[in-house]
Amino acid sequence: MEINLISDTVTKPTQGMLEAMFQAEVGDDVFKQDPTVNELERYTAQLFGKEAALFFPSGTMANQTAIRLHTRPADEVICDKWSHIFLYEGGGVAANSGVSCHLVDGNRGKITADQVRQVINDPEFYHAPTTQLVSIENTTNKGGGACYELDELQKIRQVCKEHGLKYHLDGARLWNALVAKNQKPTDFGQLFDTISVCLSKGLGAPVGSVLVGSSEDIKKAIRIRKLFGGNMRQAGYLAAAGLYAMENNISRLAQDHQRARELGQVLASKSWIKEVAPVETNIVIFTLQSKVDEKVFLEMLKQKSILISSMGQGKLRMVTHMDYRGVMHDFVIDVLSRMEF
Ligand SMILES: *Cc1c(COP(=O)(O)O)cnc(C)c1O
Repeated sequence: MEINLISDTVTKPTQGMLEAMFQAEVGDDVFKQDPTVNELERYTAQLFGKEAALFFPSGTMANQTAIRLHTRPADEVICDKWSHIFLYEGGGVAANSGVSCHLVDGNRGKITADQVRQVINDPEFYHAPTTQLVSIENTTNKGGGACYELDELQKIRQVCKEHGLKYHLDGARLWNALVAKNQKPTDFGQLFDTISVCLSKGLGAPVGSVLVGSSEDIKKAIRIRKLFGGNMRQAGYLAAAGLYAMENNISRLAQDHQRARELGQVLASKSWIKEVAPVETNIVIFTLQSKVDEKVFLEMLKQKSILISSMGQGKLRMVTHMDYRGVMHDFVIDVLSRMEF
């Protein structure tokens, strides 16, 4: 029994999800004739209180499409220094949209309205790039699953409004934030111009992300998705998994959060741990005391079939998910409790 805590993307479809996929009615989505994709897009748009939505093969493509749609070459995007769009999308902001990132030194991946205000370039000062977009991440990936308070997001919205900036949410793990903070999708739909959400992380679908926004923006997004090569034909089989995921697998995220908290608590009780970052959702980030060799530690866990990842600079990460079941959790807790150095 392998226990994979490397990411919540490692889940495989359950029997129920596979059955929903088998039964999907499909058509050619490039002609918008796939009823299941159309239903997924209608469902997601409605969930967030937005006019329209578009299905994507990946979260990266959904974000890159949003950036392209909101900017013109030479513009600037404001985002946190740990943003997925900056660190983990292959430099796509530059390659796909010809824009640069103005990085903000946030707290665990979260930025504030004051920080945003401070870095907006004066549009009259033609030496500087034109600030065009603010991109937020919730929950934060590298920030360890930290969640925003709605009032800070509202304040940032206000700054965007005052300066005519677009406002995008990279909500790959927004589902986790909704559950952890007891927030509603429409709370976010009201604030942002566009939101991307992943179906293939905590929700357990095999593939897929959705971008929601106004009809006008999504119309532009279809053209950009085409340009990026993201059109799919009988994608209804995948959309069926996504619909099943949204209908069945959101509230159960609370269990992933509970298990992550318990992992964090056990780690915090060990003398060989230096620090455990606050556990807000399903991600546990921690560092070892200098006397413990990271490679040895990872190897010891691997011997017990427990896989976790290193984020560099001494940071280690565990991510809980649907396929990390109760028996596995009990075993991991036991192994960690007994470990001594
Ligand atoms: C996973 C993730 C994405 C998208 O990833 P894909 O692997 O392209 O689906 C985007 N943003 C954040 C914050 C993520 O964690």
